[in-house]
Amino acid sequence: MIFGHFGKDIAIDLGTANTLVYIAGQGIMLREPSIVAQRRETGEIIAIGNDAKRMAGRVPEAIQIIRPLKDGVIANFEVTQKLIEYLLQKVGARKGFLGLGRPRLVIGIPSGITEVEMRAVVEAGYQAGAKYVGLVQEPMAAALGAVLPVNEPTGNMIVDIGGGTCEVAVVSLNGIVSKNSIRIAGDEMNDAILQYLKRQYNLLVGIYTAEEIKIEIGTAYPSDNITSAEIKGRDLITGLPRTVTITSEETRIALNDVLISIMEAVKATLEITPPDLAADIIDRGIFLAGGGSLIRGMARYISEGTGILVSNAENPVLCVALGAGKIVENLETLMPLLLKVKYYR
Ligand code: ADP
Ligand code: MG
Repeated sequence: MIFGHFGKDIAIDLGTANTLVYIAGQGIMLREPSIVAQRRETGEIIAIGNDAKRMAGRVPEAIQIIRPLKDGVIANFEVTQKLIEYLLQKVGARKGFLGLGRPRLVIGIPSGITEVEMRAVVEAGYQAGAKYVGLVQEPMAAALGAVLPVNEPTGNMIVDIGGGTCEVAVVSLNGIVSKNSIRIAGDEMNDAILQYLKRQYNLLVGIYTAEEIKIEIGTAYPSDNITSAEIKGRDLITGLPRTVTITSEETRIALNDVLISIMEAVKATLEITPPDLAADIIDRGIFLAGGGSLIRGMARYISEGTGILVSNAENPVLCVALGAGKIVENLETLMPLLLKVKYYR
């Protein structure tokens, strides 16, 4: 056997919004925001993950809130590495690091990232102390984690709507046949709500408030069940705090452009999918994953635009980590699912 099972092997879903850690044989042990708070002057890391998210939007000028993977690219290598180290430490994988217990790592990465960025992730994994680092494209991991039959000669379409990126892919016979990755997803939904409140009500809210509104009442498809939320912000004219009420229907209007972009990414992927696989997708339907897919009416919205049945994947926010976890647990047989990255140590 090439790979003995010694120590804890680990899979990481390095998401633009959330990072998940899966320990072989145990499952998902951690889910924290991919956020780091750093002192501007010295570069000192003040907080990572949940602690950093709590600070976001409320920090003085001297502290910078960094989302190192914000747009699905490794915008900040050092901070990404710190984030990985922190997560590994937190799950206890860094104990006895110089000895035999060093983990093998499988890391899920956005499918749109460049070769150079891939090498940066691999490097970050080794720097964090792994003895082996493999990369898997997120849509592949998502499809595997959603228990789609990725190894069969049939087309499976997965649409993963994350924070910074929306990834659409068709998977068949352990490979990605066609794909599309756009940098428009959950973050843009937050921004769209923020802009709407500014435009319609002269009300300025923070981006985290906009996100809360989205999660509370955000809607992608018209519904008879209209809900509303009270929003506190600052009046742009008087400069004073003010409260307004907006409805779920208004969020749908605010989100329109973002929804259209996602729809276009799905359609564009269908257009470049070989006809036999497209026929499979009509039979099997489209599967949605990622936190952004949790917005009400998303499946219905995409279904209406494509004429194809759309369903939410099982465990939409966990499926990338579950898929990457499955790979690290079966590295010998699932090795073909990993990306071939040229990397010399
Ligand atoms: P990533 O994989 O890029 O880290 P996630 O899959 O964790 O992203 O999804 C994060 C996004 O999902 C964020 O934009 C967040 O606001 C959004 N989100 C989470 N829950 C919900 C919900 N219930 N409704 C709408 N959006 C949601
Ligand atoms: Mg993701």
